[in-house]
Amino acid sequence: MGARILDGKRIRDEILAELKPRIAALSAAHRPPGLAVVLAGHDPASEIYVRNKVKTCEEIGIYSEKVTPEERIATEDLLGIVEGLNQRPEIDGILVQSPLPKHIDERRVLESVRPDKDVDGFHPYNVGRLVAAEPAPRACTPAGIMEMLRRYEIPVAGTHAVVVGRSDIVGKPMAILLLHRHATVTICHSRTPDLASECRRADILVAAVGRPALIRGDFIKPGATVIDVGMNRLDTVEAVEAVFGVGSPKLATLAKNGSLLIGDVHPLEVAGRAGAFTPVPGGVGPLTIAMLMANTVQSAERRLGIRTSQAAC
Ligand code: NDP
Repeated sequence: MGARILDGKRIRDEILAELKPRIAALSAAHRPPGLAVVLAGHDPASEIYVRNKVKTCEEIGIYSEKVTPEERIATEDLLGIVEGLNQRPEIDGILVQSPLPKHIDERRVLESVRPDKDVDGFHPYNVGRLVAAEPAPRACTPAGIMEMLRRYEIPVAGTHAVVVGRSDIVGKPMAILLLHRHATVTICHSRTPDLASECRRADILVAAVGRPALIRGDFIKPGATVIDVGMNRLDTVEAVEAVFGVGSPKLATLAKNGSLLIGDVHPLEVAGRAGAFTPVPGGVGPLTIAMLMANTVQSAERRLGIRTSQAAC
């Protein structure tokens, strides 16, 4: 039997469908949930992410507002924008899109978001609550992955999970969420001496690195669940042929689109080894936005005094 493909779009649609009646109830009794997205500058990838977030808000009835200061904005002025949003009662979530322009003190800006409006779950207060297994907004990508594992009924307790990557936004919160669900967790990073053998011990392997096709078929324990967070763009013939082989039909996609999106897991080798895996695109990506919407709705419910089932693990 072939590996099961874990369909992120299906899970996203389920999550969004479940949010709609909660949004309708809030709108009828009080007001719609409100999300403000701050995008400083014109990073092309960020512009696409922000457009998708705003579009998803519109689709499900969340009020959204895009704040687009110029790239050269000073840290103090950006802090002023965030403070203004902190004060506005109809804004339940504030998302400051990263990366911020290089001259901005990113940490100061992220820490200026009120913790109860921090729908990204990046504020140190919420990170502390995550570590303590207390309810708080969780970082969207790892929370989406946990939701996917739950909805596909993939057992976590008692398994060995290996997370490759230790960033604050994916790797670390992912490891903690898996730990809270009783996995034995190994975290790998760029100084891990033998990545392949660490990965081969994983029943659940999460790759959040940002290196195209780093995880080869022989890194994967047969039957493992492989979650590929990586989003890497291949934009040369050499790069595409290095992964897909000389003369691959993927070259036509490259010629048509100018680039090809692949993950951190080798796309041709994963299916022959894994028991289940997330494709790129269409795996983890859609879950991140869905969880951002879920965090915004939860924030609105909490701020309006409505009982909510916020994540406690
Ligand atoms: P970061 O660059 O912040 O972190 C990358 C991590 O990978 C670091 O911990 C780094 O180690 C580790 N690493 C780098 N090279 C190696 C290597 N050769 N072997 C082992 N570990 C290595 O990235 P992010 O966590 O922000 O993102 C990771 C990927 O996930 C990116 O492709 C990003 O685009 C994607 N992403 C996708 C999302 C989605 O919704 N699908 C959301 C967020 C991110 P060290 O700490 O030692 O430097």
